[in-house]
Amino acid sequence: MEGSFRLGRIAGIEIGVHASWVIAFGVLTFFLAQSFGDLFPRWSSATLWLTAAVGALLLFACVLIHELSHALLARARGMSVGGITLFVFGGVTSIHSEAERPEDEFWMALVGPLASFALAATAWLLVQRFAAACGGLFGGWPGRGCTPTGALLVYLAQANLLLGLFNLIPGFPLDGGRVLRALAWGAFGDLRRATRLAVRLGQGVAYVFILLGIVVGLRGGLEMLAHGIWLAFIGWFLLNAAEASERQLALRIAGPASTLPAAQRPARVPTVAEAMRAPVLVSADATVYDALERILAAPGARAALVVDHGRLAGLVSLADLHRVPPLWWSATPLRRVVVPVESVVAVGPDTPLHEAVRLLALRDLNQVPVLRDGTPVGLLTRADVLHYLHRQDSAPVA
Ligand SMILES: [Zn+2]
Repeated sequence: MEGSFRLGRIAGIEIGVHASWVIAFGVLTFFLAQSFGDLFPRWSSATLWLTAAVGALLLFACVLIHELSHALLARARGMSVGGITLFVFGGVTSIHSEAERPEDEFWMALVGPLASFALAATAWLLVQRFAAACGGLFGGWPGRGCTPTGALLVYLAQANLLLGLFNLIPGFPLDGGRVLRALAWGAFGDLRRATRLAVRLGQGVAYVFILLGIVVGLRGGLEMLAHGIWLAFIGWFLLNAAEASERQLALRIAGPASTLPAAQRPARVPTVAEAMRAPVLVSADATVYDALERILAAPGARAALVVDHGRLAGLVSLADLHRVPPLWWSATPLRRVVVPVESVVAVGPDTPLHEAVRLLALRDLNQVPVLRDGTPVGLLTRADVLHYLHRQDSAPVA
């Protein structure tokens, strides 16, 4: 994430902190000090601020544990994890490869709130065992013997419970939205449809937050206004996040391979190299006649790659060549009719075949040259793709 700095590594996972985290830390410390001040009027201001700052730090540690649970589960299920960034609203874990199966996504999303609930339960058990006098904080007032440590434990129990519940809100990209998407994905067998549903719900939830923020904010009083602005701000953030994930997913699932349910998807993605043909090559110095002769001599060929000192200089098709009147074929240099290399779209031999097919369809091309480091190694035509699919279809199933 831009504007963040590295903190270190935990279990091989890069941890970073976004600049907005510093603001969040300050705000959280301030509000905690206010709340503790109301509850414990006998505490000195040094005790108040120190307890508040430690509380804010511990809450961020809990957010980090929440994110780590996502990251570690994703890694255990074979996904590649980028890193974790803590920012104003908590944390984000970047997963480079998305889940391949609904059940992977389901557990990866659910483990975060479960981790938060486990932290809340641990803190609550510690309160029962060591700081029973603070237990009243859950409703009513804490007893006289409530120490700053006990108050912190109560605060952590409450905050982690809220964190887990907030993340379970069924709006994508919150954890709850991801759980819902995984369930819908499993039910429909269609990631695209499941994503659309989860994103729509996410936008709905975001509008509820914004509306709630306005209603609360207009109830009067400075405190209500602050709560309202905060709620609306969360809504605005969720709305942006939902829209950003929609755009991102539209890009990601545009390729035909990833829209197939996992069971139908081939384990290995076919590449251009498997479907391409050997190219007809002509020198850039050749004439139109030479090019026609070469193309017509190769069975099924309708185009040639023009090369200059081993590198691609352009592409020429039968249609381009036929625009020259036959009388001029031997006298016209190929350069006059060639599509120059700058306007030629090329693919690599390792490009997934479905991406090349998309390119052919989107740009309305009949063929694309296949290049390795600028040197032509093949040509992929629409006919080659059809032949490849036909070969796969008739191949015996192992
Ligand atoms: Zn989460």
